[in-house]
Amino acid sequence: MHLQLDQARNGPFRWRDAVRVAAADLRRDEALVPDGVDCEGSLTFTGPDFLLQTRLRYRHRLRCDRCLTAYEEDVDLPLAFVVTADVVDGPPAADGAGDGHGARELEPEDLSTLAAVDGAVDLFRLVCEQVELNVPMKPTCDPGCRGLCPQCGVDRNRKACACVAERVDPRWAGLEAVRERLADNLSS
Ligand SMILES: [Zn+2]
Ligand SMILES: [Zn+2]
Repeated sequence: MHLQLDQARNGPFRWRDAVRVAAADLRRDEALVPDGVDCEGSLTFTGPDFLLQTRLRYRHRLRCDRCLTAYEEDVDLPLAFVVTADVVDGPPAADGAGDGHGARELEPEDLSTLAAVDGAVDLFRLVCEQVELNVPMKPTCDPGCRGLCPQCGVDRNRKACACVAERVDPRWAGLEAVRERLADNLSS
């Protein structure tokens, strides 16, 4: 889906669309978006640039970094971008508010800038990039997830294992050997 900048020349252009995102569309394979992305927004001509405001709502499926279980999470992502008309064939601003595309009046630091290509914004690409960016570095199914036991591999959220209790603290391993030797001497 492409958003034509010209659609906003005579007033804000609003849209709402369901964007299907397949696993192959994403460069990161940690995330899946099984139900697609509900994408709504508006494009406003601010001269010479455009303001793109959008809200993405979807449910992504991730794999927990600690217990490796797949889990789902709802995402509600409000976004705003300054869209600059491309230099190649972008029509000059109608109100004469500067003929230079080099004019960068509207560039607050909290807004990302997007460059339009052939007078349009590729919304599909934008959605895919945002889904990718929104995958956490270390996804966790729950802040209290206890993860897998590093020794026996059991999911410690589901089952308790005795590994930690049985294991001798390595700092005491030397003493343990001495104690065994003493015990042998005493019994002989
Ligand atoms: Zn987990
Ligand atoms: Zn264990």
